[in-house]
Amino acid sequence: MGTPVDFGHKNYNYYGAYLRKKYDGKRVFKIIVDAGFTCPNRDGSKGYGGCTYCNVDSFTPELSRRLPTMKEQIEQGMERAIKGYAAEKFIIYFQPNTNTYAPVHYLKSMYDEALSINPENVIGLSVGTRPDCIDAEKIALLESYSDRLDVDLEMGMESIYNETLQKINRGCSHEELEKALALANNTKLDICVHTIFGFPWETHEMMLRYADEINRFPQIKFVKLHHLHIVEGSIMGARFKREPFKVFSLEEYTNFLADFIPLLRPDIVIQRMFGLADYDLLIAPNWNLKKSEIQTYIDKTLEKKGVFQGSKYQPLSQFATV
Ligand code: SF4
Repeated sequence: MGTPVDFGHKNYNYYGAYLRKKYDGKRVFKIIVDAGFTCPNRDGSKGYGGCTYCNVDSFTPELSRRLPTMKEQIEQGMERAIKGYAAEKFIIYFQPNTNTYAPVHYLKSMYDEALSINPENVIGLSVGTRPDCIDAEKIALLESYSDRLDVDLEMGMESIYNETLQKINRGCSHEELEKALALANNTKLDICVHTIFGFPWETHEMMLRYADEINRFPQIKFVKLHHLHIVEGSIMGARFKREPFKVFSLEEYTNFLADFIPLLRPDIVIQRMFGLADYDLLIAPNWNLKKSEIQTYIDKTLEKKGVFQGSKYQPLSQFATV
């Protein structure tokens, strides 16, 4: 499993171009690793049942136990990437669940093991987690890898509104994200935040304000923008089947991005613009297109509309009174 990185030219700052420039045109591939971590929003320490949009069934311990070992996942992932995409360099990406939810010595053993495979071709470590599972000790551990690797700490922001975070049973407030961002400030970590657009109670204007909130943290280097998708096995999925609500069409979501991207700070690199669950899990919205077709549609539309990242960005200092 993994993610090939695309190449080309776009009017926004995108991850493929960033990596290409940084690694002299080498083909970089993310290798997704499921290390069998769980989540505090499922095991009761923060909550039960998980975030309402999350497919908790896919994270059951039974399933984790059936997973190939971490070594097998990485070796097989690298092999597929080399054969299928002529990959040359790799980023080890701890993705499912909360990958800092364990004591530091255990985290270290997992990261060390993963990074010991084909080390000469591994250029990065990427760790996905919740802001409330970050502390100074974990930041120091992640930073300890930064002398030889790029280390990307990816945290779920999801919404900037606590009311939304409560409604989706996130078990984590926006203030907790702010605290984690403060801990990561002035470190060597590359910080990525993950957002979800399209909660039915958030208006277009409310969603555009995410850009201001992201912009005010200089330590945020990457963003992953997602539209809300409803999946089987989630609480939201069960509710949606009983009482369907409006979700983005591809055209509507692209129009939203066309308004959002100009507001985003120009130095921020967009790692992802939409999410796509497996079609056998996806309830809505089903745009009935392949990932590459969705990306092409978005890019062509943004180009047609003359969208440039940061063209409407206003640094906070511009508003300062004299
Ligand atoms: S989305 Fe992440 S934090 Fe929320 S329940 Fe799922 S794994 Fe846990």
